[in-house]
Amino acid sequence: MTNIRRRGLLLVLSSPSGAGKSTLSRRLLEKDPDITMSISTTTRSPRPGEVDGRDYHFVSVAEFERLVAEDGFLEHAKVFDNYYGTPAAPVEAALKQGKDILFDIDWQGTQQLAQKTKGDLVRIFILPPNKKELERRLKSRAQDSDEVVAKRMSKANQEISHWAEYDYVIINNDLEEAEQELFAILRAERLKRERQTGLVDFVKELMGEA
Ligand code: 5GP
Repeated sequence: MTNIRRRGLLLVLSSPSGAGKSTLSRRLLEKDPDITMSISTTTRSPRPGEVDGRDYHFVSVAEFERLVAEDGFLEHAKVFDNYYGTPAAPVEAALKQGKDILFDIDWQGTQQLAQKTKGDLVRIFILPPNKKELERRLKSRAQDSDEVVAKRMSKANQEISHWAEYDYVIINNDLEEAEQELFAILRAERLKRERQTGLVDFVKELMGEA
């Protein structure tokens, strides 16, 4: 297949926690070599199994504030009781290489990215299939205390209320189907004419004008 050069895109996945976003992100990263994950910086403590530099860059509040002052973040926000931010430099480097970047960020971060990136942004919101399932999934996160779970539940409604600010909505009723929908969105977005920057030369050659 002819591979036309194209501009990288920024793929944002947001959802209330418990909608299956992390599983979908992981699957996408495993199966698609052209997309790379933006690793956020956070002031929250690592959960068991989380690795610094792989899941997040875990920093102190003072360090986070220093990075904000240095303009080191593309966006940053307070989510629950912690700070989260997207380091700017790796995103810029990946885009230059024509790589797509996946962001697992909340609605606040998505709004900030939308102001900065315009045409390169593709926003997907993931919803759980129903309220009961959302509650079940939130409760089955054994790593978090009851208090944290209760907080997440009330925060879930807050996050869901921003669904209409996204370009696509996936209802995660069935993981396989949700995954296929995610792949379909990415495929179609990559084929957008304006992202295929090498098309002009390709068509010229097709028409014998090169
Ligand atoms: P968690 O603490 O469960 O890993 O993430 C909590 C929430 O913070 C999730 O909704 C996640 O999408 C969001 N989040 C993670 N990293 C960032 C970031 O860099 N910026 C923003 N705005 N939100 C983030």
